[in-house]
This record gives sequence, structure tokens and C-alpha cells, in this order.
Amino acid sequence: APEYIRAIRPYQPGKPISELAREMGMPESGIVKLASNENPLGMSPAARQAIVDALAEVARYPDGNGFALKAVLSARYGVKPEQIVLGNGSNDILELVASSFLRLGDAAVFSQHAFAVYPLATNAAGARCVEVPAVAYGHDLDAMAAAIDGDTRVVFVANPNNPTGTFLPGEALEAFLRKVPADVLVVLDEAYTEYLAPEQCYDAIAWLTHFPNLLISRTFSKAYGLAGLRVGYAFAHPDVADLMNRVRQPFNVSSLALVAAEAALGDQEFIARSADLNRRGMAQISVALDELGLEWIPSAGNFLTFRAGKAAAVDAALLRQGVIVRPIAGYGMPEWLRVTIGLPEENLRFIDALRAALAETR
Ligand code: PMP
Repeated sequence: APEYIRAIRPYQPGKPISELAREMGMPESGIVKLASNENPLGMSPAARQAIVDALAEVARYPDGNGFALKAVLSARYGVKPEQIVLGNGSNDILELVASSFLRLGDAAVFSQHAFAVYPLATNAAGARCVEVPAVAYGHDLDAMAAAIDGDTRVVFVANPNNPTGTFLPGEALEAFLRKVPADVLVVLDEAYTEYLAPEQCYDAIAWLTHFPNLLISRTFSKAYGLAGLRVGYAFAHPDVADLMNRVRQPFNVSSLALVAAEAALGDQEFIARSADLNRRGMAQISVALDELGLEWIPSAGNFLTFRAGKAAAVDAALLRQGVIVRPIAGYGMPEWLRVTIGLPEENLRFIDALRAALAETR
């Protein structure tokens, strides 16, 4: 294998519930997993019903062009179907960006502490990673613009960012877009956009008209609760979408994922309920972290990152109590842990376990 493939650091997913249950000899029902930014409500009942109804059809290939889902996305967001790319999760979108627009000798710019798939996809394409130091754990857009050179083909911007939860206001993003050369693709990763507070919302889709080098990446994995089905999407200029659609696997999104996503989009009441639950859970956990005297980073997503100190030991103590959170040493934050906001009783389990873990590891 080429050296740039050997250099790839594997993505480390959250520990599965079944694995911890086996290791600890606990029933799965006793385990609380707050490690992968999933929606604790699961999926909309409408999506679940759509899957059940579609089971009769799964022996056939899915619609490789995702006609029905694109029609619903098109109507809802006012983009043309030819501006849409569907992905097997938004990870697939990020990889399609890299395989369509990056090759040996090119560079991709992204922030320190940004989502792990940016370096992974960049390295897999043989391109060079330019990691720009963060400010206050978030993206330094001025420094990112300054890091763009003649080799740069792609810039990744996560808003909100994972794992830090930091948020960039619309005006800052628009100013950044004006600075980026027209031949550099700006990937605006909005995986958590449904969780934004009303006053944080901005209209990135309107920018597509002025910035043909903008790509907006979104997912059904987070607020829509379809992480296990794997479906994401991108909005871009038709020429950008066309190239990615040539590179992607012909049937990259399964039939069940397509129908579930379509039904999920139609249940916006579920999204509002999920965002509301998240807001309350965020308050519940942040108050508890304050009481425990722990530093945390204000988050616009459905997770909270806090300074645990001896994070590996705290994580191990949490696991022994059946609580799975996410260590983020791989993101250059060895003292920090990331917890996904769960149901009120799950948050409480986490808070109690954390209190015990801190007492144990002090
Ligand atoms: N972008 C960000 C910022 C994420 O946090 C994630 C999920 N961890 C993804 C993209 C990819 O998620 P998915 O492939 O499930 O859409």
C-alpha cells in the first residue's frame, strides 16, 4: 500500500452497547450509551412505519438516483434535484468530495479539533492535510483563509463542529466564502444544523447562488435519528453534484434508508421535539458539570465536551458503571471527554456515574 494509506489513523467509533455488556457481564438494558451523538428518541414513528412498509421491496435494487427523496429535499429546501448528492451517511459525501476533487499533490485545509473524517478522506485520496490551529477550540476562519495556497482544492468547515460543539455565525461564514478563491471547494458540514437555536440559524442554501464553490453537507444520522440506516446528502452547484454523482457507487443508499429519510423529513414535529429535548438535556448536564467544577465548551450540537482531567481513567470508571461516553484524545484533546445529550434519566445516570468516577480517580 502507498505510504499515504499507511499514514491513515483509523476512525475510532463509540463502543457498542453489546460489546460493553459482554465485557462487563451486564445486561444490555443496564447500559447507557452517550457516545455517538445519536438522537435518544430514536427515529420518527413515520420513518419506522415507512421501513416496515418497504420491507416487501428490499429484494430489488434501490432507486440509484434517489428520485423520491431528492424530490422531497428539493421541495423543502428550494434546490434543484440536480444540485443534490445522496450519500451513505454524510461520511460518504465527505469521501466523495475527496475522491472527486483531491489527488496527490493537492491540499485540503481544515481546523485543529475538527471532525476526524476530514484528514481521513484527505489522506485516502493521497492529498496533503493542512490543519489550522483552533481558537477557543473552534475554527479560526481568518487563519484558515490565510492557509489556502495554490495547492488547496478543498476547505472543510464544520458548523457546529464535532467534537467541540463550537459554532460560527452566518456572517462569519459568508465573509469567509468571499475570501476563498473560486477554484477551492468549501465544504460546509452541517451535520448538527437541526439543533441550532432559532437566533443562530442562517441560510447557507441562499449562498449557493453566489458561491458555486460551496457544498453543504447534511445528514439524517443526528436529529433525524437514522444513524444506523446511513443516509446523508449534499447541496451544491449542479456541476459539482454531477462530478460527485459520477464517482459515487451506483446504489450507495439502500432502499430502506431512502424511504426512511423521505418519511423522516415529513415529520418536522419530531425534529422540533428532539431539539427541545436536547436544549433541556444540555441545561441539565451543563449545570451538573458546573456543580462538579468541570470546565466545558458551550455547544451548539447535541453533545457537550468537558475537561475531565485524567480523562482515560474517568472514562474507564464510567465504563465500569455501564456509561459509555467518548474519549477524544485522538482529536488532540487528551484531558477531555465528549458526552451526547440523552433522555433526562440517561443524563442523570451519566451525572451520577461521573460524580463517582471523579471521586474514584482523584
Ligand atoms: N460530520 C460531522 C461533523 C459529524 O459529527 C458526523 C458524525 N459523527 C458526520 C459528519 C458523519 O455522520 P454520518 O456519516 O452518520 O452522516
